[in-house]
Amino acid sequence: MFLPEQWPAYYDRASGVTVVDLDGNSYIDMGIMGVGACILGYADPDVDLAAKEAISRGVMCTLNAPEEVELAELLCELHPWAEMVRYGRSGGEAMSIAVRVARAHTGREKVAFCGYHGWTDWYLAANLGSSGHLDGHLMPGLEPGGVPASLQGTAFPFHYNQVDQLKEIVAGCRGDLAAIVMEPRRDNPPEPGFLEEVREIASACGAVLIFDEITTGFRMTAGGIHLLLGVSPDIAVFAKAMANGYAMAAVIGRGEIMQAAQATFLSSTNWTERIGPAASLATIRKYQRASVAQHICAAGTRVMEGWSAAAQRNQLNVHVSGLPSLNHFSFNHDNEPELTTLFNQIMLEKGYLAFNQFKPSLAHTNEHVDSYLVAVEEAFAIIADAVVQGDAATRLKGPVAKRGFYRLT
Ligand code: PLP
Repeated sequence: MFLPEQWPAYYDRASGVTVVDLDGNSYIDMGIMGVGACILGYADPDVDLAAKEAISRGVMCTLNAPEEVELAELLCELHPWAEMVRYGRSGGEAMSIAVRVARAHTGREKVAFCGYHGWTDWYLAANLGSSGHLDGHLMPGLEPGGVPASLQGTAFPFHYNQVDQLKEIVAGCRGDLAAIVMEPRRDNPPEPGFLEEVREIASACGAVLIFDEITTGFRMTAGGIHLLLGVSPDIAVFAKAMANGYAMAAVIGRGEIMQAAQATFLSSTNWTERIGPAASLATIRKYQRASVAQHICAAGTRVMEGWSAAAQRNQLNVHVSGLPSLNHFSFNHDNEPELTTLFNQIMLEKGYLAFNQFKPSLAHTNEHVDSYLVAVEEAFAIIADAVVQGDAATRLKGPVAKRGFYRLT
């Protein structure tokens, strides 16, 4: 995705922020740290210890692991509006559980959504009939091959801060809206009153408000980012950072709505394995103990400021945006794909797995950020020269990076 034919595809080992590829080359990860999952750093010793203890006491059993209950209590303590919890083991799967519960609770079918929510049918159904509906929702061009055509007209996208679009969907659904699904925020802050109005609309029309906190959860605070925004959903979904890379996902919600899980069938053998909850408890406790939110926000802010300053010094037109701990930049130049690929190439040659996003972790020290920003300065200087010379494409040692997902193993 980032630097075709040049990036290492597979890793031998990863620890802290260091990744060693199969040829023994060592890199510092200043990119997305395991698709945003490894918020404490790779192979965190405390989380790994909890996982190893779970292994030594048996990861699967006819009885249940008490860590499930402990984790449910912790999640409900962090989110006082929530009363019940169900677990899955990945984000898209947990979103499907949440949507199923919403449909079971309301007895309705349709879903209004904003943003990306994973690979499953309820979501990709939005692209049936017109494959452009998911464009503008983080990942454009998702093909709905294999999704039953009969699901067409069940999932309707609206854009963030565009409450009128949501109102139109609600009116068009004529009482058949089961859920409003969205990330409480991502790139842009909510406009004053936006989230409150979404909350009111959901309550007024009887739809379940589902906040997808799979990426935003544990990025800005211990728990969902909605805790900082002052609006509570009916259901919130967590995965990724909640277990620092171990497979774990949680759907938390108000009791009366979550009870609808009894009116449908939601069950899977490995949803009761022990490592996920054990790793999650260790991750959240360390997150709180080590003030991880403050650490990653400080590191991310330094990087964002460093990108802007280096761009200015090198007279590059670079747009920096996002949350302190979930940020990115883009080159505002005609040949943006070549420039972005050139950046990735230069950074790889300097020993970094880095592209135009940075998801900081507890393992990123000030020294890592300092050395990275020196490398960024050098990279931006080369890129600025390539812009002046108009020869970015010829400086590339492989193809230009593609957009979207192209992966077959
Ligand atoms: N929802 C959001 C907001 C995400 O960012 C992602 C993954 O990037 C998902 C859902 C899907 O989660 P997973 O990749 O764990 O299935």
